[in-house]
Amino acid sequence: EGRRLAALAKEPTRTRDNVDIRLFANAEQSPDVAQARALGASGIGLYRTEFLFLRSKGLPSEDEQFHAYRDLVLGMGGLPCTIRTLDLGADKADNAGIALREEENPALGVRGVRLSLRHPAVFASQLRAILRAASYGPIRILVPMITTPDELGAVRSLLQICANDLRDAGHTLSELPEVGAMVEVPAAAIGIHTLLDDADFFAIGTNDLAQYVLAADRNNDALGTLYDPLQPALLRLIARVISVGRRAGKPVSLCGEMAGDPLLTPLLLALGLTDFSMHPGQMLEVRDRIGQLERARLRKLSPQLLRARSSQEVAALLDSFNPDLK
Ligand code: PEP
Ligand code: MG
Repeated sequence: EGRRLAALAKEPTRTRDNVDIRLFANAEQSPDVAQARALGASGIGLYRTEFLFLRSKGLPSEDEQFHAYRDLVLGMGGLPCTIRTLDLGADKADNAGIALREEENPALGVRGVRLSLRHPAVFASQLRAILRAASYGPIRILVPMITTPDELGAVRSLLQICANDLRDAGHTLSELPEVGAMVEVPAAAIGIHTLLDDADFFAIGTNDLAQYVLAADRNNDALGTLYDPLQPALLRLIARVISVGRRAGKPVSLCGEMAGDPLLTPLLLALGLTDFSMHPGQMLEVRDRIGQLERARLRKLSPQLLRARSSQEVAALLDSFNPDLK
């Protein structure tokens, strides 16, 4: 079984009815990048940059960041790399180099892009490092915790200022990278149409989207099965983001834990997903599962899934679609 899966590293990702699907990798450190490349990822769908900041030595310099991002793009040999800007906040950082205020409710507080925009000098050093690395290969910029379109506008303005400064300082830059939004705040998912003018692409972050839609802390075991990716309200939002994005010609990927769970692959194909991003360790299993599934048939089952009244009902439907699958 292990050997059969290993052989898939060189195979394309294609459904049984010959629809090409793209598997991107979520990565943080260089071993993830090497693994992604070795297993045939289409690129990096989510490069988390928090690790550069979560260290006791203080803030990373622009050069340190530049080296990390340049190594990333060089490591992927010309495949697209999606770098997510800093996603820190009181819930994700104990010892970051940025002074964080105590917050009563950090998950709803100054985190992600909200924090970055309040620290423009820190944010600018990250954007400058990304712009410089973009001369070495295709980079896209992904912004976490987007709630309203003006946040994307503010990021773009700062990006433009950084690019002008770098050019003035003698750097030759390629075109400005595309800027996309994480869709992980309910307002962004419900209001996805309001982000179309400002976002070049979308990445659905179901880990946080589930937490915020269900008002259930993603790390609180006491909530039992409430925090469940099969909750109908979450599925409706995922389907909406995919279809609105598709109709507007904007790529939509999904990079929460769901994307790497082969048991949920038929569900995500049914909802119309074509771009998955997951830990590289999950890629072969998901590629294998995709090869066993017929997308056209699953797409027809989407209305039924979206009408389900409970996560148990969704799970039962999934089982019935896949009697032959474990
Ligand atoms: C998410 O929220 O689904 C996500 C991919 O980002 P993170 O897990 O880093 O919050
Ligand atoms: Mg998130």
